[in-house]
Amino acid sequence: MSELYRLLPSVDLILQRVSESGRYAHLPRPLLKDLVNVHLDQLRAAIRGQKLTTSEELQWSALEGPLHAFLDRASRPHFRRVINATGVVVHTNLGRSLLARPAVEAVTEACVHYSNLEFSLDTGQRGSRYAHVEELLCKLTGAEAGLVVNNNAAAVLLMLDTLAKGKEVVVSRGQLVEIGGSFRIPDVMAKSGAVLREVGATNRTHPYDYERAITPETAALLKVHTSNFRIIGFHKEVGLREMVALGEKHGLPVLEDLGSGNLFDFTPYGLDHEPTVQEAVADGAAVVTFSGDKVLGGPQAGIIVGRKEYIDPIKKNPINRALRIDKMTLAALEATLRLYLDPELARREIPTLRMITASAEELRRQASKLVRGLRRALGISANITLLPGASRVGGGAYPERDLPTTLVAVRPQGTDIGVEALRDALLDTDPPLIGRIEHDAFCLDPRTLADAEHALASKVLAKVLAP
Ligand SMILES: *Cc1c(COP(=O)(O)O)cnc(C)c1O
Repeated sequence: MSELYRLLPSVDLILQRVSESGRYAHLPRPLLKDLVNVHLDQLRAAIRGQKLTTSEELQWSALEGPLHAFLDRASRPHFRRVINATGVVVHTNLGRSLLARPAVEAVTEACVHYSNLEFSLDTGQRGSRYAHVEELLCKLTGAEAGLVVNNNAAAVLLMLDTLAKGKEVVVSRGQLVEIGGSFRIPDVMAKSGAVLREVGATNRTHPYDYERAITPETAALLKVHTSNFRIIGFHKEVGLREMVALGEKHGLPVLEDLGSGNLFDFTPYGLDHEPTVQEAVADGAAVVTFSGDKVLGGPQAGIIVGRKEYIDPIKKNPINRALRIDKMTLAALEATLRLYLDPELARREIPTLRMITASAEELRRQASKLVRGLRRALGISANITLLPGASRVGGGAYPERDLPTTLVAVRPQGTDIGVEALRDALLDTDPPLIGRIEHDAFCLDPRTLADAEHALASKVLAKVLAP
């Protein structure tokens, strides 16, 4: 055994060989050295554990492959691309929305050049960073004014802090939602300093519930999109228009957290009607907040639009500075919003809209194409079939509503890899492939899998099933 230890190449020799290969020239040398030391420790442990027992196994030709595999894995970025074959379009854990091409280009432009971020090209003086999107937001939503912050949670916080600090806000018990990632409306309100006045029951709230709760301490009525859950059965909510009428009677603004916030009407594509931002503004909400990266299909952002008398003080709130949007996001958001000036262009160019509105026939065609590619790549190592299935919009939009799709079902055959082991192994491929298990098969949904990703999906599946 001690003989084997002696046969191990030194760190310096390994580093020399590695640098001759040029393969890791992009890695900082100290990192490379650390990684080689870690790998040498693993080899010593393997000798100790009698997993390495012969001198042949310690020759460079035998060591090189595993060393490269180790270095590849250890040096890759922690935050990286994955393939989303789950069929959940706005998948919060996988980065929500993909940006449209013009948005990506705008980000690059904003990063590599100086810009008029807070500089007015009309006056040559300091300008406002919201000026770039405010007009667009007003045009698209019909609102009088608007601003953008880091995300919708920040937007809700800022809205309440500005308009209801130390006062009461009336909200229905049916809308006290937790969005996930510990965003709960009651907690955010507590942080803003607004006092929550809960009214109604979980399943039913009536106009008189709101009305009875109004006192001289009331600052606003709040409506919250129930986002990721749906109440069915014996259930009643007070509509925005009714709330606005109540508010007017008592001189109170109605604030709405729309959550996902559609600017696009999906009803022609077979989805239920969801109030759009335009409708919320037209129906009289004083302030509406929504996310930039959910169904809107832009970058992470919180968008606040509404009447000027309420938006102006929100803009002046000092907390705004702590929640402000950065220039890359602003660039992506402006480019995304511009596409909405022509809704059909938006539908074609914004990946989130394109995926949500993909037709059943198109998805079936994509699924068939994927099956052909997978059969070629996997041969007899898997049984591959089509299955009718359902995709989801995700991001709290259209909860519990299925979008019909055609799934590609992969079942390993002639190996002892089970479906669960396959799913787990695919988390470790490059890039990882995320799908879901249904009908005892690993399923890929073409709704979220781009045409251009078919070959890559086949390659990583082949790596696991037919190495
Ligand atoms: C998603 C959501 C939020 C939080 O928005 P982020 O952009 O994730 O901060 C707040 N309210 C509702 C109703 C939501 O659906």
